[in-house]
Amino acid sequence: MRVSLLPARCPMLHDEPLKTDSGPPETVAPLAGMSEHVPTWHHGPVTVYFGAKSGKYPDGNQVVVRGSDSTAVFDTPQVANRIGAVLDTADIAILSHVHEDHMAGLHRLARAEVHVHEADVEAARSWEGLCRHYGYEPAQLQALKAKIEAEFHYVSRPDAVAYVEGRTWDLGGVRVRAVHLPGHTAGHSALMIEPHGIAFIGDIDLTGFGPYYGDASSSLSAFRQSIARLAQLPASVWITSHHKGVITDRAAFDDALSRYAARIDEREQRLLKMLDDGPQTVDQLARRRLLYPVDYDEVWVEFAERRSIEQHLLELRAAARVTAIADAPGEAIRYTR
Ligand SMILES: [Zn+2]
Repeated sequence: MRVSLLPARCPMLHDEPLKTDSGPPETVAPLAGMSEHVPTWHHGPVTVYFGAKSGKYPDGNQVVVRGSDSTAVFDTPQVANRIGAVLDTADIAILSHVHEDHMAGLHRLARAEVHVHEADVEAARSWEGLCRHYGYEPAQLQALKAKIEAEFHYVSRPDAVAYVEGRTWDLGGVRVRAVHLPGHTAGHSALMIEPHGIAFIGDIDLTGFGPYYGDASSSLSAFRQSIARLAQLPASVWITSHHKGVITDRAAFDDALSRYAARIDEREQRLLKMLDDGPQTVDQLARRRLLYPVDYDEVWVEFAERRSIEQHLLELRAAARVTAIADAPGEAIRYTR
């Protein structure tokens, strides 16, 4: 467990209390075989089981939707392993996206169908696909594999079924609809629960850290567009994978989303300020850290810093706010304001 460390792809740097506008989450008695209470939130056919520390990475919040015909779970964070029969009776697991902390209960769902957006599905189907999804160096990936097998019960799902934007699942009296909101990963999607107006928004998680777009399959420009689209979604309840949990107030959601989006602009400003010190390469900028504190060390940090910085530089060059300098053939490009 990495509880003492800063988090990874679904991260935040600040501890904040769980916010549910409908009051503190209810608590259910443990089921047979369970060893602890798991706080929950209920609305109609929907139950949210909150992970440790309000679903802070490495845990997450588990959504369960019970229709008259079948039961769906959205993602399977670590807490999925602590809700006993509730998880084991799921007929279908619909993933908002592929990342290790959203797959931690799939090892228990051998008989359930696993549905993943078509842009992420290869990452669910094989380790090789997951490697391309992350994009890290081979040594980093090897270290990551050992970690996610130990901490997230990682298994690949060769049987994963691809879904696309607009796909619906009728569970009997309640319907789930996929809304493709890429950026965090290429296939990241919100899952709308209809007609209840509840949106599970995955890792557009409204944390203090801000948006994560540091993997090979991530996209800063797509993330910007997805935030704008999310603001227009016809929902009255929003559920995040991590940390915020459940928001039932429109104004609170709008405020949280705009604060979250502002983190992108704050990073851009910080990067420009770093360039005030003179022309620098991506590696030099990455060593100074745009996302994580300089003393934070994890296998993906170097890659995520470079990938995020490169995307910001691309935008800034397109806007003619940053210039690339190529001193000599073969030498690393330096960037300047
Ligand atoms: Zn994620």
